[in-house]
Formats: sequence, structure tokens, C-alpha cells
Amino acid sequence: MKEKLFSGMIPVTRPYFNETEEQILIETIRSGWVAQGPRVKLFEQAIADYVSAPFAIAANSCTSALQISLEVLGVGPGDEVIVPSFTFVASANAVVHRGAKPVFADIDPATYNMNPAGLEALITERTKAIMPVDQVGLPADLDPILKIAKKRNLRVVEDAACALGSEYKGRRIGGISELTCFSFHPRKLITTGEGGIITTDSEELAKAARIIVSHGASVSDLSRHQSAKIVFEEYPVFGYNFRMSDLQAAVGLAQMQKLDEILEKKRFFAERYNQVFSSMEELEPPSEPEGIRGNYQSYLLRILPKAKKSRDEVMNILLEKGIATRRGVMAIHLEPAYRNRFGEIHLPETERAFKETIVLPLYPQMTVAEQDYVIESLKDAITF
Ligand SMILES: *Cc1c(COP(=O)(O)O)cnc(C)c1O
Repeated sequence: MKEKLFSGMIPVTRPYFNETEEQILIETIRSGWVAQGPRVKLFEQAIADYVSAPFAIAANSCTSALQISLEVLGVGPGDEVIVPSFTFVASANAVVHRGAKPVFADIDPATYNMNPAGLEALITERTKAIMPVDQVGLPADLDPILKIAKKRNLRVVEDAACALGSEYKGRRIGGISELTCFSFHPRKLITTGEGGIITTDSEELAKAARIIVSHGASVSDLSRHQSAKIVFEEYPVFGYNFRMSDLQAAVGLAQMQKLDEILEKKRFFAERYNQVFSSMEELEPPSEPEGIRGNYQSYLLRILPKAKKSRDEVMNILLEKGIATRRGVMAIHLEPAYRNRFGEIHLPETERAFKETIVLPLYPQMTVAEQDYVIESLKDAITF
């Protein structure tokens, strides 16, 4: 095996920044408007246009966006929300912070997303909403999920933290479920440092969310400043400060100009991985079902039990070679906070995926040489 070819680690991901972000930040700072203002409006419009949703409400994270979404749907104490366990802990934390109970759905092992087949069995008279998650950017099978929700009179919040730019049956994620939440954390497709957004086609939900995101105030700071007359705000509900700042939105606007390029480059490298790994019986590369197009936010690979090394051993070997990896995705129901409050449950496909999956380096500025080094190192690790 070749010795380490690269100085420093090959990271799992890396933000795709250049002078565009630097320049727009300088302009924003010089404008004097650094809290929520005109750039947040522009960023909201850019996302709404991109996903074909009439409304977008920016927030300081996707976690806040999920919590607000559940709140505007009236989810509260005594309610149950069906959510996958094979997701980042924030999906279920948002439910718990509403005082509601997350009811965990198992996944389809081929897509790692909520399996619609098991969904109806989880519905009780307390069920208020379903939260499908588009795991690592691959859209959940929304048609059957939305159909069940409609039939059983349940609300839907889609956790699309990772899924900006992904498509379900020809439509972009963000314009399909009644509420969709995206993240702009650096691990996602585009980043604002920290940040999130809600998209919706409901004017009523959009209005309610906009009020809660900013202290429950009836009038935004921007519209007060832009008004020719004195405007006093009212506080009809209890809100939070979950606002995105103009500094973050400025970076987001610069990043939106690169989204197509990021999508294209991630797909190029992901398909290169797929090509090599699909011929190896120890590995199961990710796949896209008919009509569903992901964005390869992360490259999630399954290392099957027939490989010579376990997933954890592979991670260690790669680390020694200067290659960063992550375990695939967590299984929330196994975490102490959840076990202690909601008891032990068993989700066979979630637990298997939790043990067997690994996230490999994938970022737009990756080089073919870097990727080849990852591929060769992984091949060596699982066959010797
Ligand atoms: C990253 C992520 C979140 C949290 O997003 P933040 O913007 O960091 O709050 C929620 N759900 C999923 C599925 C995620 O991957």
C-alpha cells in the first residue's frame, strides 16, 4: 500500500468557500446591518424560488426550524410524532422539546429512510404528526407517507436538513410536504455557519412561524425600520429568538450561487465511489430508487458482515492512513436520554445500519487522487 500521500487529513467534508463569501461578508459588515434584515429576506426568497415553495422562514438552525414547525401545527404534551430513529438526534429532540413523544419507525434497509410499510401500525389516537427524514439527502418515499397522513388526518413536518437540491418524482424537496426544514450547518450541501429554514405552501403556517421565530412579535424589525410611520409591535404569542442574522444570510446567498456546481461535483465523486464499490461483495453502496434523486450530502456505505474487518476496524485503519470517516448515522432509540425516558425498543434494520454503515470523504473540491487514495485504502482494509 502506498504511504500517506497527502499532508494532513482527508476530511469527511469541507465547506466550499472562496472570495465570494469573503466579499459579501465585507459588504454586509460595512452596511451596518448584521442582525436580521434585508439579506435574510433575499435569502428566504432565493430558497423559496429554488424549491418552488411560496413561503420560506429563516431560522438559526434546522433544529429550531423543526421545533417551530411542530409548534405551529399544534404539537404539544400528550401528542405522539412518528419519526425514524436512524437520524441525527435533533429530529427527535425537536419532538421532545414540544413535550410530545417520538414514536420511532424502522427504516427500509435499501434507502435508510422511514419504511412506509410499517407506518400505519405505529399510529395511535395520540398521533399528531409524521416526520419523514431525507437521510443523507436521499428523499424519503413521500407519496405513501403523505397518503397515510392524509387518510389518518395527521400533519407532516419533513426533516430535509440534508436534502437541499434533492428531487422526488421530478419535484424539488421543499415544495412537497406541508412544512419542510433545511439545515445550513457546514456538514450540509450549502452552509451559513449555522442556520436553517422552513418552507411551506401555507400562508397561515408561514405567518405563525415568522412570529414565533422572533420573540412572538407581530411586526418584524425590518418592516418597523422600513416604515415611514412609527409602528409599535404586539406580542400575541410566546416566541423565541431563533432568528438567522444577515451575516449568515449573506454567506447563504453566495453559497446558493454555487449550489448547482456543488451538486454536480458531489455526484461526480459519489458515482465514482459507486462504480468501484458495486463490484465488491463486501460492500453495499448507496442506491437511488426509481424517481428519487438524492444530492449525496454524505456518502453512506454499508460494510457487510462478510468483510474481513468490521466497520469500526475499518474506521481505525483509515484514520491511521490520514482519512477521516464517520460512523453512518446514529440510532436515537439506543441513546441513554431516550432509553431512560421512553424505554427499550428494538428496530432491527435501524440497529443493523447503525453497526454497518460508514461515511466516507466527499466534498466538491476533492481531487481524483485523494479519492483514489481513499478507495485503495478502503479496499486494502476490508480484504486483508
Ligand atoms: C444536521 C441535521 C439536523 C440538525 O440541523 P442543525 O441545523 O444543525 O440544527 C437535523 N436533522 C437531520 C436529519 C440532520 O442531518
